[in-house]
Amino acid sequence: MKITDLRCAVIGDNPVVRILTDEGIDGLGQAEDSKPYLKPYVLFYRKYLLGEDPTDVERCMLKIRRLGGFKPWGAAVSAIEFALWDIAGKAAGVPVYKLLGGKVRDQVRVYNGGVRFHMGGSEPEHYAKVMQQMKDRPEGFSIIKQGIAFHSPMPVEVPDFSYGTLQSGPPHPNRGPLTEKGLKHIIACVEAMKSVTGDEVGLALDCGPGFTVPDAIRLAKALEPYNLMWLEDMITGDYTPYVMADLYREVTRATSTPIHTGEQIYLRQNFRELIETKAVNIIGPDPADVGGIAELKWVAEYADLHGILIAPHGTIDGVIGLAAHVHCAAALPHNYIALEYPYARHAWWYEIVEGLPDPIVKNSMIDVAAFNRPGLGVKFNVDKAEKYLREEDKGFFDD
Ligand SMILES: [Mg+2]
Repeated sequence: MKITDLRCAVIGDNPVVRILTDEGIDGLGQAEDSKPYLKPYVLFYRKYLLGEDPTDVERCMLKIRRLGGFKPWGAAVSAIEFALWDIAGKAAGVPVYKLLGGKVRDQVRVYNGGVRFHMGGSEPEHYAKVMQQMKDRPEGFSIIKQGIAFHSPMPVEVPDFSYGTLQSGPPHPNRGPLTEKGLKHIIACVEAMKSVTGDEVGLALDCGPGFTVPDAIRLAKALEPYNLMWLEDMITGDYTPYVMADLYREVTRATSTPIHTGEQIYLRQNFRELIETKAVNIIGPDPADVGGIAELKWVAEYADLHGILIAPHGTIDGVIGLAAHVHCAAALPHNYIALEYPYARHAWWYEIVEGLPDPIVKNSMIDVAAFNRPGLGVKFNVDKAEKYLREEDKGFFDD
């Protein structure tokens, strides 16, 4: 089998990859809906893959993997990897999880990091209100993650929150030492959320990046009585093209609150220090950023050898991304906690893609059997999907 074309269309705001072959089998991949600008980067890899056998996924990846980078640039390589596995599964007549080593679990747990409600402010009552709304969702989420501190409007909306100079610009621009007021405000908001979740729903907090090491330690220790699932990305994280494992280690060693990072990291090599020095308790690679589902599986196995847990990031990876997540999570070792449920911003995504169960999530779980078809188990309803193609992408679904 040979690759005859690699296409990319921006549907909604998700870059969607379609790889075609000389045997009429095609494969799909998808990247986050925050990355509509990715299309030319996906197409950059086309010349390296034309003529290759897509069922030799690793040999294809060796051609393009080195030409990627930390979030957002690893997403193009990762979405292509999903499409290669989709083809490999279809060619072999098996679901992708079989090619990753087979199922460890029949259902995969998800956590909520993407089904959101309007906050209306940054006071404890606002946090309690949205936490109740998320807890009441029909998905029955058993873990909910909320943004706080530098991963929220707090630096701007809470007076005298930090001693830092307020910045605006790219995602999560603020960083600096907290005031005592700022520290107490965060703790008050966590108390308010815990009054809603109780011990029925696990509470995780996305915190930065932006913390200084002493503030990260003070907050993590202060929150120990609340038995949080984890504190995410305090020092570095989303859209920082580096890791700073030694700083994370200082924080992790100082507290019993689980410390989490890794959504921006590309490739296993860049997880190495984090894992080998046990710098965090939980890693959160995103299959659509780390280099794909086989890459994530490798990182998860290596983390497990070192006593580190995994909760893959994925909030806006789209519904094709969701399928990739499910196949991957089904095959991960027992250090798996839950994947971040990819939730489409537009309801029509659930009309134009076929193969998703309805409802998708029951009691915070997704049945792997719902994706029990060759490949990723999802496909476009072309008649319904075509009208969402942009003018320059007409022809994306052609043979
Ligand atoms: Mg995060």
